[in-house]
Amino acid sequence: MTDTPHEFSVIRDFFSFSERTASVAVGVGDDAAIIRPAAGTELVVAVDTLVESVHFPAQAPAAAVGHRALAVNLSDLAAMGATPRWATLALTLPEADTHWLADFSGGLRRTAVAAEVALIGGDTTRGALTISVSVIGETPTGSRLLRSGAKPGDELWVSGSLGDAAAGLDLLQSTGGASSPDEQFLVDRFLWPTPRQALGVALRDVANAAIDVSDGLLADLDHLLVASDAGAVLQADSIPVSKALHEVRGEGALELALTGGDDYELLFAVAPERRHEIPRGAASQIGVITESSGIRLRRGDKELTLPAQSGFNHFRAPA
Ligand code: ADP
Ligand code: MG
Repeated sequence: MTDTPHEFSVIRDFFSFSERTASVAVGVGDDAAIIRPAAGTELVVAVDTLVESVHFPAQAPAAAVGHRALAVNLSDLAAMGATPRWATLALTLPEADTHWLADFSGGLRRTAVAAEVALIGGDTTRGALTISVSVIGETPTGSRLLRSGAKPGDELWVSGSLGDAAAGLDLLQSTGGASSPDEQFLVDRFLWPTPRQALGVALRDVANAAIDVSDGLLADLDHLLVASDAGAVLQADSIPVSKALHEVRGEGALELALTGGDDYELLFAVAPERRHEIPRGAASQIGVITESSGIRLRRGDKELTLPAQSGFNHFRAPA
């Protein structure tokens, strides 16, 4: 069948795009890749799997799926303060649809080129559409950004705006798309997440702790606080909400910003005396780290009730 190319031609035609670089001794084409980390660096490794209809809706454009598969990993590396260098791709496809593959590899390639990441290998198999990308990055030895390390009195900051992607996914699933520029912004925030790579590297020796917001602000903040053995007070009016989310969701915007996933923003704790080292305009302060555990939400001095649902859990039992 002309429409079902052989596995080897899929690899050759769609996934052999990385240029040779000094950091890749052996790339796609042998039994395994050989990489050359720079002297004085440690390697930072992350993997993320996207399953169709679980992590992205079936109608998502293939180019956006290719972008996303890499971007979610770049976000994890950003949260560690690492510079991404190499990636591998394990691709499971129901059939080798050349149009889908061309768009998918185009999306992946553009993002890889922009991030200066070399695709050094992978695996291609048949089955339900599943994409697993792993990324390897570098940090100068001993220089790292972890979830642990936030201290009482630290300021809590977050990049970009929150809740947009969850609203965008909701639009895709309920109406199939956008019917206004604001709705399009939200859909694009879901389909084309922007990993905060430069910010992550800039925070490497500045922030005391960091995490990327993939499951929702409250859920991911909780991970950071547990790792740091601390608590936090959030100021409701400081949570960054985009104009588009406010227009589309009105009063519901804050709850979505607290609980919605897929934004891939960076959440980090910085000592007050180092706040001026945060790149200007890259983030906003949303609260402070406290000694007493748990998360409290306030408007001024007034305590607000936290939304019950906080973030996505694949294995949560149905209510
Ligand atoms: P093996 O059976 O020895 O694992 P494969 O046929 O799976 O070999 O892979 C051959 C080469 O192609 C390897 O270098 C592998 O890393 C690469 N490769 C396979 N699938 C992909 C893919 N989807 N993207 C990038 N490289 C791939
Ligand atoms: Mg293989």
